[in-house]
This record gives sequence, C-alpha cells and structure tokens, in this order.
Amino acid sequence: MTKVGILGGGQLGRMLLESAAKFKVETYVLENQENSPARQFCDHFLLGDIKDYDTVYAFGKKLDCITIEIEQVCVEALEKLEEEGVTVIPKPSVLKMISNKISQKEYYQQHFIPTPDFYITHTREELNTLIDFLPAVHKVGLGGYDGKGVELLYDINDIQKGFDTPAVLEKMTEIKHEIAVQIAVDQAKNIAIFPPVEMVFDPTLNLLDFQICPARLSPSVQKKAIEIATKLVNSFQSPGLFAVELFIDQSAKIWVNETAPRVHNSGHHSIEAIATSQFEMLWQILLQEPLGPTHVLKPSIMVNIIGAPNYLGTAKLEGADLISDQDTFIHWYGKETTRPGRKMGHVTRLSINPERATETAHLLKNSIRCLSDTKENKGSFV
Ligand code: ADP
Repeated sequence: MTKVGILGGGQLGRMLLESAAKFKVETYVLENQENSPARQFCDHFLLGDIKDYDTVYAFGKKLDCITIEIEQVCVEALEKLEEEGVTVIPKPSVLKMISNKISQKEYYQQHFIPTPDFYITHTREELNTLIDFLPAVHKVGLGGYDGKGVELLYDINDIQKGFDTPAVLEKMTEIKHEIAVQIAVDQAKNIAIFPPVEMVFDPTLNLLDFQICPARLSPSVQKKAIEIATKLVNSFQSPGLFAVELFIDQSAKIWVNETAPRVHNSGHHSIEAIATSQFEMLWQILLQEPLGPTHVLKPSIMVNIIGAPNYLGTAKLEGADLISDQDTFIHWYGKETTRPGRKMGHVTRLSINPERATETAHLLKNSIRCLSDTKENKGSFV
C-alpha cells in the first residue's frame, strides 16, 4: 500500500484524511500539537516539529510520497527527500517560492503574471520614503496567514502600523470581487480546473465572511481569470493542488493576489457542491489516479464557524440541532478549545439563490455559532 505523509494536522489535514477512506493508502501525519484535528483520522501520528530538518527528514524517509497542509514547514528537508527519491507534492522549489510573499510577488513579476505593483521593504523606517505610493497594503514576507501580517496603510499616519521586518508593500486595489480558482495538476501533467468561487471578506477581521460558488462574474471575466490562473500554475511545473486567489477591480481588471499550494479554505464547498472534492482531487494526484470531474452539482454558500468574540475555553457548537433541511452540511473540526476568531468548523448550504447570498450567509452565521461555557470580556478578536 502507498505510504503518504502529511506535514501538519489541522482541519485541512483532517478533511483530507476523511476522504482518504475512499483510497488505498496508508496515512502518516507529522504535527506539533498532540490534540490536533487530524489525529484520530490517520493511520500513524507522529508528534514533532514540522519546521525541524531532522524531524521532517526522518518522518519522510519511510514514505513513498509526502505533501503539506500548511506552507510553514522545513523545505530543506523536503528538498533532500525529493533528491533521495520520495515524491514530494508540491515540488519543494515551488513551496519555497510561495511560502514567502516577497519571492512569490517577484515570481509573478518575472513570469508576467498581473499582480498589483509593489515595493519590498526591510524596516518600518523605509515606509517613510514610500509615502507617495500609498494607499498600499503592507504584508509580511514570512508567517502571515488569514489576514494576520497584513496592514492597510492609507496615508502617513498609518506608517506606525507597518511591519519592521521584510515585507511587501503592495498598491491598494479597488476590489470589486475576490475570487479563487483551484487547479489540480497530476504527476503526468494533466490538469483539472475547479469553477471559480467568490470570496466575500469581513473588512474588520480581514477574514473570509462567506464563499459562494459559482462566482457571480460575467463569462468573459471568468474565462480571463481561469486563463491567468492556468498560465501561472502551468509555469510552476509541479504536480499539486493550487488555489490561486485573484482580485477583480472596479474596471474588471484581474490581478493575482496570492497562491496556496495545497487544499484551501476556498474549496471546502467542493465536498458537497462539486463532482469531485478538493480533498479527493489531492489524493488522485498523490496516488496517480485519474483526476475527477469538477462541474458544479449545486450552487452553494460556505461560511466558516469561527470562535465567537469573548468566548475562551472548551468549545461548544450551538445551533446545529436547529438545522433540519437536507441542503445544509455542518463540518466541526473537533478542536477542544475556542478563542475569538479561531476557525472551528464550516457550514455549506446547497441550492442557494445567489441574489440572496449575503442574507443566507448571515442567517447561517447567526444560527450556528461556536461558544464556550465561560464568557470573558476579552474585547475584540485575538
Ligand atoms: P492572507 O495571506 O493573510 O490571506 P492576503 O494577502 O490574502 O493575506 O490579504 C488579506 C486580505 O487583504 C485580502 O483578502 C484582501 O481583502 C485584502 N488585500 C490584500 N491585498 C490587497 C490589495 N493589494 N488591495 C486591496 N486589498 C488587499
């Protein structure tokens, strides 16, 4: 049986492992947290640091194939494993380029992929020389996620919010739509393209508010977005599942924001709403099986269940018992403790009316919530 390892054991790993039951595979997870969401779903769990060279190398050495569910891993160990014959998906060189926003932006520029103009900064001080470039978005090179490590700088008064570490200062785009296109590339270079999805962001949290599929775009914009995402993914020359996030601006221009070389939050709806889920698709890539179809089964909305403000401690799902329709699917990630803003699960609703998407999403978010027994006055999201 093929031995496949996953670096990281969060909710993405958990859902990947849930769908592993359909495949002939022996699964291994390396993760630094003992009570991680993926633990109970894998065949073998190893507690260890995914950023440590020796740990990752020793973990990968006994595997046929290795993949990731988070970018912040020891790429050097993956490079060594690839050299020694382990199949690493995505290729470590692509992972290395993507895992730092600075090299990622430079890559887009070098490959003529449309992306907002940018400068690279190393200190906060440097921002003072770039006042004329504002409004812009400052993004840390390494370690940012879910809007953390991203600051909007409108004018000189915002400079103190900037980062004092290597970062990208990117021209602020007047965004009309944010979309994501997931593209699968198998080991024989066949590709499968998922229908573009639209992501609506919460402006205060900088976190996904809801996702809708298919994206509400004109066919020509949709076609262009797919073309750009495909050109980018083809340039990687690597098997893998890639989620390309794009902005559509007010004049319908399309810009690549960033790419995730793994299963992604923007693809969770695919479990119920698409002919092949993103998780099945990744197994098909890893195990060299034919890529499945990607057509929409039913239009859908997906909302994240995130830890409610002020609630810290043992997590409690509220409202799930009130859902009785056949079109709503609740996924609970099994995290023991909640904190404000933490991703605890998600809900997918099928057969939606796209014109009432916001209303439906807010109804779901208000009825299904993650609380805890104790409420503390912890103010805003942490
Ligand atoms: P993360 O990797 O943490 O998700 P992103 O780079 O995707 O960070 O930025 C988070 C959000 O910030 C985006 O989804 C978008 O809403 C906003 N944003 C990022 N870059 C720009 C930009 N150039 N112009 C306007 N808004 C942006």
